[in-house]
Amino acid sequence: MSANCVTPTLLRLLIIEDSSDDAALVVRALTRAGYNVVSERVDTPDALVAALQSGAWHVAVADYTMPGFSGTAALTLLRQYDADLPFIFVSGTIGEDVAVAAMRTGAHDYIMKGSLTRLVPAVERELREANVRRERRRVEQHLAHLAYHDALTDLPNRTLLHDRLDQAARVANREGTTLALLLLDLNGFKEINDTLGHHAGDRVLQCVAARLRATLRDADTVARLGGDEFAVVLPLADIDGALLAAQKILHEIAGPCVIEDRSLSVRASLGIACLPEHGSSADTLLQKADVAMYVAKTEDVGISVYAPNRDRHTHRRLTFISELRKGLDENQFFVEYQPILQVRTNLIAGVEALVRWNHPQQGRLLPAEFIDLAEQTGVINPLTTIVIETAIREWSQVENVPRLTVAVNLSSRALLDPILPLRIADMLAVYGAPPSSLALEITENMLLSDPARSMDCLKRLHEMCVRIAIDDFGTGYSSLSYLRRLPVDELKIDRSFVAGLASGQDEVIVRSTIDLAHNLGLTVVAEGVENAAVLQRLLAMGCDAVQGRFISPPGDAAANRGRIREQNLLDQS
Ligand code: C2E
Ligand code: MG
Ligand code: MG
Repeated sequence: MSANCVTPTLLRLLIIEDSSDDAALVVRALTRAGYNVVSERVDTPDALVAALQSGAWHVAVADYTMPGFSGTAALTLLRQYDADLPFIFVSGTIGEDVAVAAMRTGAHDYIMKGSLTRLVPAVERELREANVRRERRRVEQHLAHLAYHDALTDLPNRTLLHDRLDQAARVANREGTTLALLLLDLNGFKEINDTLGHHAGDRVLQCVAARLRATLRDADTVARLGGDEFAVVLPLADIDGALLAAQKILHEIAGPCVIEDRSLSVRASLGIACLPEHGSSADTLLQKADVAMYVAKTEDVGISVYAPNRDRHTHRRLTFISELRKGLDENQFFVEYQPILQVRTNLIAGVEALVRWNHPQQGRLLPAEFIDLAEQTGVINPLTTIVIETAIREWSQVENVPRLTVAVNLSSRALLDPILPLRIADMLAVYGAPPSSLALEITENMLLSDPARSMDCLKRLHEMCVRIAIDDFGTGYSSLSYLRRLPVDELKIDRSFVAGLASGQDEVIVRSTIDLAHNLGLTVVAEGVENAAVLQRLLAMGCDAVQGRFISPPGDAAANRGRIREQNLLDQS
C-alpha cells in the first residue's frame, strides 16, 4: 500500500494486547501507511471469543505475554474460529528462540514493539497470503464436490449414485424392505445437440435435472450418469410404486422446456429394476435397469420393468455383438491419430491413437458407439491389442520425423489382463520402439474395480518406462492427492473444463489443476482446444501441451506424418 492512496483501505484489526498504549502505536503505524483501521482490543479469552464471533477480521496482532493470557493460547483459540486469519506477534519481551517457537505454533510473523517498521510490509504480505490460502481452500472444496457431482446439473454423479444405491440396498436387504432403481435416457437428445447446438443440449439437461428433482422426494436420489442418462433411487418403493413414480416423471419432463425462444418437449425411455425381485446388489440392479431401459427405448414404450427373458437377448444387441466379433476378424477397425503440440518447443511431440470402426452397413463409427459393448463382451482385449500394435507399427519408423510418443487409450478391463505388460514389451521389441515412445491413457475410475490388480499391472508398465497418462482428469473419482500414489507421468485435463475457458468459466479449476499437477511433477495436457482464445489462456497458465481441433482434428497416419513433418521443420527453420 502506498501512502498516497486516495481512498484508504479498510483494515479490520483485532489486537490481543493488555496495554492500550501499545495498541495505539500499532494502529498509528498502520493508519500512517494509509489504512483505514477499525480495531478492537481484547486481553482475555472470553473477550477474544466474543470478538471472533462478532465480526470478520482481516488481521490479528498479539502480544506474546500478558497477565493471565498468553499469545500462544490466543492463537490456538483463534484458529478454532478462522483457519486463515493472518496472525502476527507484536511483542517486546520476545527473544529469538521464543520467536522461533512462536512461529512453530502457527503465527505468521513476529515483530519487536521497539521497531514497528516491519509491521506494515508484514501486514500487506499476510493479507495477500491469506487471500491465496482462502482461494486454494475454495478450489479444493470445489474439486472435492466435483468428484461426486456432475458439473452441468450439480446432481450426484455415477460414483455418488453407486454409493447411495449400495447403501440403500444394504438397508433394504437387512430390514427386508423394498427399493427401486429407475434409469432414464432422453429420446432424440442427439438430434437436439446436432440441430440446436451443445449449448441448447446443456440447457435441456439442466431443465430435465431440475424437473426430476422437483418431482421426487428429498429421500430419493436423482443422479446424472453422463450424456443424457439419469438415474433415480427410490427407497422403500415396490414395483407398483416405481411404475407410478415413472409415469409422474415422464409426464413432468414432457411439459414444454423453453430454450432459446423455442419450446421443446422432451421425451424419455425409462427402465425399472426392483429389490428384491430383480436383484439384491447395486451392480445387479444397475445392470437390470439398464436392460429394461434398452427394451423401453428400442420398443418405444416409454416405461419397461425388467423381465428376465428380455435380458441380453434383445435382437439388436445380439446382432451388434456378432458384428463386433466379425469386425475384428475382418479388420474393420482402424486407427486415427490426433497430434499433441508441446507448448515449450511449439513442436508436435506426440499423437493420440483413436480407434474407429468401418461398419459394413453403418459406415464409420466412433468409439462412443461401440466401446461399451466391446467391454461388456470381452471383445475389448483383442481390440486393445490391435490398436496398440497398429499405433506402434505406424509410428515406429517414420522418415524425417523425430521420434514421437504415441498414446493409446486403455479401457478398464485392460489393466485386469495380467499379460498386458508382456504383450506390450513384445510388440515394442518387434518394431524396435523404445518403451518411452508409448503412452497409455487410463481414466481415474479404471482402478476402482480391482485396485490391487490394476495397480500391479500399472506399476509393471511404468517400470518398463512406458508413459502413463490420466485421461479426462476432473470427471472421475480421484483427487490430486490420490494421484500422488499412482505411477503416472502425465495428466490430461478433460475437454469439458477446457471448453469452459472460452466463456471465462472453469478458469480456477484449470489453473489449480495445472499448478497442483506441476507440484506432483506431472506434465499437463489440455484436451479439446477448439479456438485461439482457449489456447491463449492455457499458454498463460503454463500448460505443457495442447490437443484439439484447433491444433488439428484426428486423421490417418499418412496425413499426420505430412503435417507433422511440415510443422516441425517449419519451426526449426
Ligand atoms: P479421449 O481419450 O478423451 O479422446 C479425445 C476425444 O476428443 C476424441 O474423440 C477426439 O476426436 C475428441 N476431440 C479432439 N479434439 C477435440 C476438440 O477440439 N473438441 C471436442 N469436443 N472433441 C475433440 P473420439 O475419437 O470420439 O474418442 C472418444 C473416446 O473414446 C476417447 O476419449 C477415448 O476415451 C475412447 N477411445 C478412443 N479410442 C479408444 C481405444 O482404442 N480404446 C479404448 N478403450 N477407448 C478408446
Ligand atoms: Mg484419451
Ligand atoms: Mg480425454
